[in-house]
Amino acid sequence: MIYNSIIDTIGDTPLIKLNKVAEGIKGTVAVKVEYFNPGNSMKDRMALKMIEDAEKDGRLKPGGTIIECTSGNTGMGLALGAIAKGYKCIFTLADKQSKEKIDILRAMGAEVIVCPTNVGPDDPRSYYSVARKMNEEIPNSFFPNQYDNLSNAVAHYETTGPEIWRDTEGKITHYAAGVGTGGSMCGTAKYLKEQNSDILTVGIDSYGSVFKKYKETGEFDEKEIYPYLTEGIGEDILPENVDFSLIDHFVKVTDKDAAIMTRRLAREEGLFIGWSCGAAVKGALDWAKDNLKEDDLMVVILPDHGTRYLGKVYNDDWMKDHGFIEARSYATAEDIIK
Ligand code: PMP
Repeated sequence: MIYNSIIDTIGDTPLIKLNKVAEGIKGTVAVKVEYFNPGNSMKDRMALKMIEDAEKDGRLKPGGTIIECTSGNTGMGLALGAIAKGYKCIFTLADKQSKEKIDILRAMGAEVIVCPTNVGPDDPRSYYSVARKMNEEIPNSFFPNQYDNLSNAVAHYETTGPEIWRDTEGKITHYAAGVGTGGSMCGTAKYLKEQNSDILTVGIDSYGSVFKKYKETGEFDEKEIYPYLTEGIGEDILPENVDFSLIDHFVKVTDKDAAIMTRRLAREEGLFIGWSCGAAVKGALDWAKDNLKEDDLMVVILPDHGTRYLGKVYNDDWMKDHGFIEARSYATAEDIIK
């Protein structure tokens, strides 16, 4: 068959069983590998949905400019939608995002504005504030705002959830996902829990983010907020797409543990995936170790591809500089000569 355009290839990503990294866990753990989407991330799904919903109700008009604050993957999805449908794109990114993500967005014809990471969301320099300001100033522009735009979670309710239900033949018992905007956790969880209310969900959070404490105490604790490295999960705000009633448990994962699991997934499972995927699997397995039973089937969603992290978690020098590994795992010519 011939697809009409690249955006028609979004979705229907495979579920793959984890073997070596899940040794010792009772039950089955499978991952939904979202790098099979054309933009190499799950964000293609919600980007397309945000564009199409905005076209339907007139927020996005022909020839318009899409302006979004993104950690890179949403930008890629929006860029694909914009190319297929004839819009311009401007993205604001925080400077902690990998250089590869910025380069990829520029390669796809988007304008990228890099903003400082370590300022609060209300600071005029933050990537939220810069995107909002440009939206006010540029005529015929559309600011999807993935954090509070419910088309985000709806995309996963309509596609990710049904795919998992179909591919596990309704046997899924647990769903785990990293939580950033909350769309991929909560949209999918809503669909799955509607099919079987016994399905339990595990949200993966990072140290330096407010989610876990907020779920457990109802308190938005600013002391929980501090800089961390893992890209795409954890927040210093409570996005509208996070519905805490759909997330049964939260597990926090350190940058180091996430990075090490990311590398194990590549080398032991052949899954060349992104850093938040390592966080999701590490958090899911930590939880599964004490809670999964023989007949249980846990699905963990893996958001994106490893190419975006070649200069970071897949780079031994970077890992060593951050104290995540002791030594390089390969020899240089100089090591061999001496
Ligand atoms: N991992 C990566 C790499 C991401 O880009 C995102 C999106 N922020 C997430 C995880 C979290 O997904 P969501 O926004 O659906 O919560």
